[in-house]
Amino acid sequence: AKWVYNFGAGKADGSAQLRELLGGKGANLAEMASLGLPVPPGFTISTEVCTHYYANGRSYPTDLESQAEESLKAVEAQLGRGFGSTEKPLLVSVRSGARASMPGMMDTVLNLGLNDDTAAALARETNDERFAYDSFRRFIQMYSDVVLEVEHYNFEEILEEYKDIKDYNLDTEMTADDWKQIVKEYKARVKDVLGRDFPADPKEQLWGAISAVFGSWMNQRANTYRRLHGIPEEWGTAVTVQSMVFGNMGNDCSTGVCFSRNPSTGDNHFYGEFLVNAQGEDVVAGIRTPQPLTLAERENGGGELPSMEETQPEVFKELCAIREKLEGHYRDMQDMEFTVQQNRLWILQTRNGKRTAKAALKIACDLVREGVIDKREAIKRIDPAQLDQLLHPTLDPSAERDVVGRGLPASPGAASGQIVFTADEAEEWSKAGKKVVLVRNETSPEDIGGMHVAEGILTTRGGMTSHAAVVARGMGTPCVSGAGEIKVDGKNKVMLANGREFAEGDVITLDGTTGEVMSGEVATIKPELTGDFGELMGWVDEFRTLGVRANAETPLDAQTAVDFGAEGIGLSRTEHMFFDPERIVHMREMILARDPEARRAAIAKLLPYQREDFTALFRIMNGLPATIRLLDPPLNEFLPHTEEEMQDVADAAGVSLRALELRKAELDEANPMLGHRGCRLAVTYPEICEMQARAIFEAVVAVKKDGIKAIPEVMIPLVGTKAEMDDQAKIVHRIADAVKKESGEAFEYMVGTMIELPRACMVADEIAETAEFFSFGTNDLTQTTFGFSRDDAGTFIEEYLQRGLLPADPFITIDRDGVGGLVRMGAEKGKKTRPDLKMGICGEHGGDPESVRFCHEVGLTYVSCSPYRVPIARLAAAQAAI
Ligand code: ADP
Ligand code: MG
Ligand code: MG
Repeated sequence: AKWVYNFGAGKADGSAQLRELLGGKGANLAEMASLGLPVPPGFTISTEVCTHYYANGRSYPTDLESQAEESLKAVEAQLGRGFGSTEKPLLVSVRSGARASMPGMMDTVLNLGLNDDTAAALARETNDERFAYDSFRRFIQMYSDVVLEVEHYNFEEILEEYKDIKDYNLDTEMTADDWKQIVKEYKARVKDVLGRDFPADPKEQLWGAISAVFGSWMNQRANTYRRLHGIPEEWGTAVTVQSMVFGNMGNDCSTGVCFSRNPSTGDNHFYGEFLVNAQGEDVVAGIRTPQPLTLAERENGGGELPSMEETQPEVFKELCAIREKLEGHYRDMQDMEFTVQQNRLWILQTRNGKRTAKAALKIACDLVREGVIDKREAIKRIDPAQLDQLLHPTLDPSAERDVVGRGLPASPGAASGQIVFTADEAEEWSKAGKKVVLVRNETSPEDIGGMHVAEGILTTRGGMTSHAAVVARGMGTPCVSGAGEIKVDGKNKVMLANGREFAEGDVITLDGTTGEVMSGEVATIKPELTGDFGELMGWVDEFRTLGVRANAETPLDAQTAVDFGAEGIGLSRTEHMFFDPERIVHMREMILARDPEARRAAIAKLLPYQREDFTALFRIMNGLPATIRLLDPPLNEFLPHTEEEMQDVADAAGVSLRALELRKAELDEANPMLGHRGCRLAVTYPEICEMQARAIFEAVVAVKKDGIKAIPEVMIPLVGTKAEMDDQAKIVHRIADAVKKESGEAFEYMVGTMIELPRACMVADEIAETAEFFSFGTNDLTQTTFGFSRDDAGTFIEEYLQRGLLPADPFITIDRDGVGGLVRMGAEKGKKTRPDLKMGICGEHGGDPESVRFCHEVGLTYVSCSPYRVPIARLAAAQAAI
């Protein structure tokens, strides 16, 4: 079998098509080599080797070694250098690269092939001892960390101490002799820790690094990242071995990262950062603050340092040409890594760049306008989950801001929360229900868990492409990076900003759009839904066939839903209307009533409130349909608890406290979620259904007078048998007839049901004889199908997910086979009886992109979700249809 794919000198075995085999990095290196771009030659060991490695007790296919040697020889021949040579030594990097980009999650080793002899040879050859030993010490540190598991603090300690003694501030002050000395001390430390020498044999180094990279596929942080991003373990990583180019050979050398368009705003401006006389990880690690690539960027507040456009205009021009070429080739915004070695440009990586939701929209719309992609492609490129970022509040420009510091606007949006100084604390505090802002000098991949739960992230070091910035943008978490004037002392848990001290737990606000850091919490405002957002959502509606409605009961929710483009209300939970203090007394009075008379009296007091609610809702919906669900939850959710509340109810009902207490005890249920709830309430207390139906129809008549046509869909909850449905539908029709007669007005309405019990799915054909519409209540259906209590599942679901016993939380993403199977059956049976049956889904799944796709496939009429998720559902529905 072929395990190894070469690239370099204008040709390659692989291409961008072979991403599954070569990983994103390897595939794109091959593609760039074929395009004739300046890529240092090398080869990629395929992901199949990774699979083999794990399937065979961490061992390799027998012919891998010979194939790799062959490829290494080809590189040596191309460059006229030798791996391990003491004349012209070849150094390589060993790089990880999975099919999906997992920035910083796996390991990479640079400058491999160095030992005392090859380092001396490199120094002689380049006539630059400082460079040779700087590379050597970097290699020892990286290799020890990644392959030998000697932690990096060992080396940082040695270097810090050395610089202290020499009274140096920056690494740039270190001389050749200094680095030589450091190399000695590093090697001694490795021997101290491991009890054996640092490996000098380049071959041993190479295979050690290759194994470590394959091994890093299963490290803790890579596992976490995969879980958060739904990347399957089976994919594996590829390993690329590539000849080194050097950005650390002097002041005409540098290393950097650039984007073909701005990843934060989406503006069609070349954007990037670089560090002079530096290597690889330096930019990302935030060791020094980088320089801007373009003049425009520097003038736009990019700092004091000159841009590459000014210092190396020739190289800059070349980079600009590559930007054009790669963006044109991939037809998408590119994130590129480059190194300049003595004024010569090398490209080390390209990929479709991660971007903020705002940038994603702008870039997709711009590319359509530029004629590069079509609308379908634009729609497919927006991650529905990412849209969420745009639908949430930003800082109110008129609110007071107590600005205490400033950094780079690394990931937009506003966030307030309590300061924590470590990722672990962020996780703990957030588990305890607190909102936190993670404050650090810099972040590293181990911090991923804490970054995920934080409202916002603040770092004092690093640029726009630092780890914190990249990860935060990917997660849609607001982030301010490189806030250099702010001092963070993580050990003592203090942050010093503008002469003020902030402790753990103090509240701050970040504006990831401007880079401001503020003391306290700052007011926010609603997002802007026009411009690119409006345009793309317009395209979305051209393609989708699935309707999108919202779950809403308050006028505010209903208005938000309409603003976000909902085509109706799919679920209005009437019980939410009863929690108002003015009403709850009468609600309780009704629940605790001893007999139908008393109940009717209490209900009569609720009627005007309900009518008002529905009138308001119908006005906002202005002709759009609204599904109104009759009272559903277990009544004990409304029961009074305190003595005072009990007394209020007793007064309102005109009964004694003692009598009320007895009645309350009677209502106690062992398992209320499976108890007296849903349509069972109105089967036993038909007055409830009568009152609610009357309120609905009287509201219809009321708005009709103002020329508004209301289309109510009266929904009976938790039906399990046709008999229940018949019983309730009869009441609703009777009341409708009565209201028509009383008012002398005609109106349309429908009576349907929520399908949320397995039995209802089984007999959906029978139920559809009476029900004019179905709404699959997938929250309860999940609960009753799995037998998982929604309120208690938290205690074990997390472990199920971690151990792979469930692919996803079934309360978030629909369980296609089980719960989904019942939905499919219910839908098919319902249609058999009533071919034009209107079918929707309500519940959390209505706003989950994966579940929306399922609903499209099953042929439902619409999904209904919370108002803020309406745009997400619209986009997901369009993607399902394309
Ligand atoms: P990651 O996936 O974490 O970005 P990479 O494999 O891209 O890891 O390596 C990180 C950095 O190391 C690159 O951005 C590049 O600057 C540097 N690097 C990798 N290979 C080479 C090489 N052959 N020559 C010079 N620098 C390299
Ligand atoms: Mg990289
Ligand atoms: Mg339900």
